[in-house]
Amino acid sequence: MLGLAKQTGAKILQASTSEVYGDPVVHPQPESYWGNVNPIGERSCYDEGKRCAETLFMDYHRKHGIRIKIVRIFNTYGPNMLAHDGRVVSNFVVQALNNKDITIYGDGMQTRSFQYIDDFIEGMVRMMDSRDDFIGPVNIGNPGEFTILELAEKVIKLTNSKSKIIFQPLPFDDPKQRKPDITLAKKELGWAPCIPLDEGLKRIISYFKSVDV
Ligand code: UDP
Repeated sequence: MLGLAKQTGAKILQASTSEVYGDPVVHPQPESYWGNVNPIGERSCYDEGKRCAETLFMDYHRKHGIRIKIVRIFNTYGPNMLAHDGRVVSNFVVQALNNKDITIYGDGMQTRSFQYIDDFIEGMVRMMDSRDDFIGPVNIGNPGEFTILELAEKVIKLTNSKSKIIFQPLPFDDPKQRKPDITLAKKELGWAPCIPLDEGLKRIISYFKSVDV
């Protein structure tokens, strides 16, 4: 794809990820933080793959002057997610709507920052429309930080579910905390998310109700 962008002069976007920060020791995470990634762990193929992609984008930009944009996407959710894609928001909502046990991995004290899809799309569009010399990487995420236990409790409350919370083993190398520093996105893109978690959860709950999961 980078070769094609070079040939055609197209602008090209790398949809990178907060996973480039690994299990971060700097909190919240600014773009200047280089991350804390285990290169040989179970998550490495994803984390290191995305880090390598950022490297290739930067090399093509430096060597061939191609127009690149790099966004680091934090946990995103919203309508049209697949019911069983395995991510935490869809898992919990589908479990709650069916009054099945809510599966927390570990003790639920790990944190994530969840952004609603509409906020994310607005950030991406602004990034693609930004001036050519702003290439990123730029964090696109919602700085509201919640423990996974808090998320489970919110979902149970908003769905009036009878589900019980159960605790299962934590996957290896599961990051303990995640929260974007969005100072750069605010400054360069005039962007900040506007849909809080409770509102976004209501919308995704309505969606999963409408598709009868
Ligand atoms: N998680 C959980 N129960 C689930 C699915 C995920 O407790 O049914 C936890 C997972 O271990 C992680 C967090 O929720 O700590 C977010 O997981 P997800 O896969 O959605 O995103 P990522 O870990 O890539 O940020």
